[in-house]
Amino acid sequence: MIIKKLKDKLLEKRYRVILVMAFLLLMGVAAIISRKSEMELRSLPFSPGGFKEIALTFDDGPVPSATPKILEVLNKEGVKATFFVVGKMVEKYPWLLERIWKEGHDVGNHTYSHPDLTKLSKKDILEELDKTRILIKKITGKDTYLFRPPGGRYDNKVIVTTTLTGYKMILWTDYPGDYGCPSSKVIYQRTVSKAEDEGIILLHNGLDATLDALPKIISELKKGKYRFVTISELMEEIREKESVYFEKFEREQKASPSPLEMAVTD
Ligand SMILES: [Zn+2]
Repeated sequence: MIIKKLKDKLLEKRYRVILVMAFLLLMGVAAIISRKSEMELRSLPFSPGGFKEIALTFDDGPVPSATPKILEVLNKEGVKATFFVVGKMVEKYPWLLERIWKEGHDVGNHTYSHPDLTKLSKKDILEELDKTRILIKKITGKDTYLFRPPGGRYDNKVIVTTTLTGYKMILWTDYPGDYGCPSSKVIYQRTVSKAEDEGIILLHNGLDATLDALPKIISELKKGKYRFVTISELMEEIREKESVYFEKFEREQKASPSPLEMAVTD
């Protein structure tokens, strides 16, 4: 009896080890696939004509003292950008959001009252986002699930809560720290030096130095063969690129089954 129990235990343990090993193997394969996809995605032809793509984003508006001036610069330069708006400000200045939208810019959600989302309950996180989403839809007629967490603060709870309800968190690749109020020269230099293909630049509404730097940033990036896209356009192109890659990957898999698949069919 004792021997049988011991044997059962050993078997159980062995199965557990096999299960763990199978899991690790699968994780390893998934990691290789995702690394491969990342590499191939980067090397796919993305921008015909040798252009690189970059998205300008403006947080914390709309505000009457800055947003119209930003819009004037963007209009003059023929550049479309994305505004991550705060619900409270939209309630105060709905005509500014209307103007942003009418002039062809993209709009994202920057919560209702700009709180630190990591300090809120799941229910409050969603309330902050839903309230602003509904306000945006009322004015633009478009439902957007793009959001940026205030201060870029997020944790697992924020990611899981927002992802499960369809929201897409958009961060940035290039932040010159304009909120810390360096000079326009510093903002310009930092922004341009960190620019990259498929990059996302984070700037803020309401800062004179940002406004001063903006025309110079745009003209330097244009010289560097950057094309300005909105976040929705960037997301759409990345999605297309992903589907092209995965279709190709699937075709290759069908043509030559991987050793893992052959082992399964044997
Ligand atoms: Zn903010």
